[in-house]
Amino acid sequence: MVPADAAGIEYGKNEEKMGWKSQPTRLVSFDGVRVPVTNRLGEEGEGFKFAMKGLDGGRLNIASCSLGAAQQALTLSRDYLAERKQFGRELSQFQALQFKLADMATELTAARLMVRQAAWRLDNSDPEAPAHCAMAKRFATDMGFSVCNEALQLHGGYGYIREYPLERLVRDTRVHQILEGTNEIMRLIVARRLLADGVIESLQ
Ligand SMILES: Cc1cc2nc3c(=O)[nH]c(=O)nc-3n(C[C@H](O)[C@H](O)[C@H](O)COP(=O)(O)OP(=O)(O)OC[C@H]3O[C@@H](n4cnc5c(N)ncnc54)[C@H](O)[C@@H]3O)c2cc1C
Repeated sequence: MVPADAAGIEYGKNEEKMGWKSQPTRLVSFDGVRVPVTNRLGEEGEGFKFAMKGLDGGRLNIASCSLGAAQQALTLSRDYLAERKQFGRELSQFQALQFKLADMATELTAARLMVRQAAWRLDNSDPEAPAHCAMAKRFATDMGFSVCNEALQLHGGYGYIREYPLERLVRDTRVHQILEGTNEIMRLIVARRLLADGVIESLQ
């Protein structure tokens, strides 16, 4: 544990971002920072293990943020399609748009199940939990961005206007594919486990 005001720690400027405006983001740099040995959480050399353990939970956290955003986008879309009329009927009566809603709900449900299953494995110290957290993070964050983007499309021009929350959901969920390890790195984690001997069965 490093005290935030230790000598040698520097905090960069508050970055201007595409989304996630409520969370300040700054570069933290360490230059010759001295930390007393009593601040160590485990044995010497175990730091990487501790950091990686924290990331499993963090990945489920980001995945859950995507579930929440997708749920809101889906609910808003359902309500909007029922309300907005074009060509003499509600948008919800066009089967092409009904199919979009159905796909959004199906993908959201699949992602929610994956996140819950990975969380259950993590709670139960399953040795394959890290691969499942990586799978859930990759799947749920790709799903979250895609559902929010579809929802924006379903709102037509209003989806792009700040008065409606869709454009914010799209901007906010985009970073979930980057944060807490990019989705390419999630694929690396899963592929490495799959390629290890005899792991395919235990990943099910
Ligand atoms: C809003 C925000 C908040 C953040 N908060 C935190 C925080 O609280 N704590 C923290 O530690 N970090 C934080 N980060 C940093 C974030 O975790 C990193 O940006 C992210 O892990 C990607 O690292 P990078 O930017 O160095 O990308 P790079 O590693 O430079 O990657 C660039 C691209 O190359 C791809 N790539 C890299 N290596 C490989 C490979 N081996 N195989 C295939 N593709 C590869 C990446 O997937 C990516 O698409 C934050 C970032 C943002 C935007």
